[in-house]
Parts: sequence; structure tokens; C-alpha cells
Amino acid sequence: MNYTQEEKEAFMREALREAELALSHDEIPIGCVLVKDGQIIGRGHNAREELERAVMHAEIMAIEEANAHEKSWRLLDTTLFVTIEPCVMCSGAIGLARIPQVIYGAKNQKFGAAGSLYDILTDERLNHRVQVESGVLEEDCAKIMQDFFRQRRKKK
Ligand SMILES: [Zn+2]
Repeated sequence: MNYTQEEKEAFMREALREAELALSHDEIPIGCVLVKDGQIIGRGHNAREELERAVMHAEIMAIEEANAHEKSWRLLDTTLFVTIEPCVMCSGAIGLARIPQVIYGAKNQKFGAAGSLYDILTDERLNHRVQVESGVLEEDCAKIMQDFFRQRRKKK
């Protein structure tokens, strides 16, 4: 799936809108959209507090929605756009869903499993490898996180 820079930024902006939804519930603002043939087939935001579910990260919510949309667990020919580098759990789920391409905004040095802490998406020992690109709207994706944590520290 080849997207122009404009298309990548447009989809990342949609992911950022999801991140803002998380923010409105006072959650860590991470958002995600899953795209197939230029159409969004799944959206998600971090909803750990909102749904009181430990595993409800943005990517998981988007994958579940896309699975229902496609009536299939396999999400072939899709691209996952997410504002922040996926964690270990989500990188595992991306592989299990057979998602071939991931584009993310900013790195997550503490939890990232797509290059920072681990590199699950491109590990040659695993049978599913994912094409990964980072840095799309990186500053916007990082800033919404920094603002959130700054606000939270102030509240404490
Ligand atoms: Zn995750």
C-alpha cells in the first residue's frame, strides 16, 4: 500500500482525532485508524479508563472494529495508522491480525515494541513481518502526549 505524504498525514490526523477522544475521558491520548483501499474500516482510542479494560488500547479497539467490518480475523491489505509506537501487546495483535503495514507518529522509548524497546513487527524469528514507518506528524502526536502528562503532574 503506497500512500502519498498528504494521504499519510490525512489518516494520521484521523488517528489524532481519536486521541482527542481519549483525552476527553482523561485517558492517555493515543488514537488509531485502520485503512483498506483508502477507506477507514476501524477506529480506536485508548479506553482503559472509559471501559475499565486493561487491554483496550487504541490498536486493539481498531482491530476489533475492522474484524467485525471485514467479517474476518485476517486484515490483509490494510494499513494501521497510530499516533504512538505500538506496545508489546498491540504489536503482537498486529501480527496475529496479519496487518501488513504500520505507520506511526512518535516513538515511545518506554514501552515501544516497534523499534524502541523491542522490534516485534520486524523480528525475523516470527512468521509475520510488518512494513513499518514512523515520524508522520510526529510533533503533533508527541505534543498531545506531553501536554497530557504535564497536566496530570500539575493535578497531583
Ligand atoms: Zn498497546
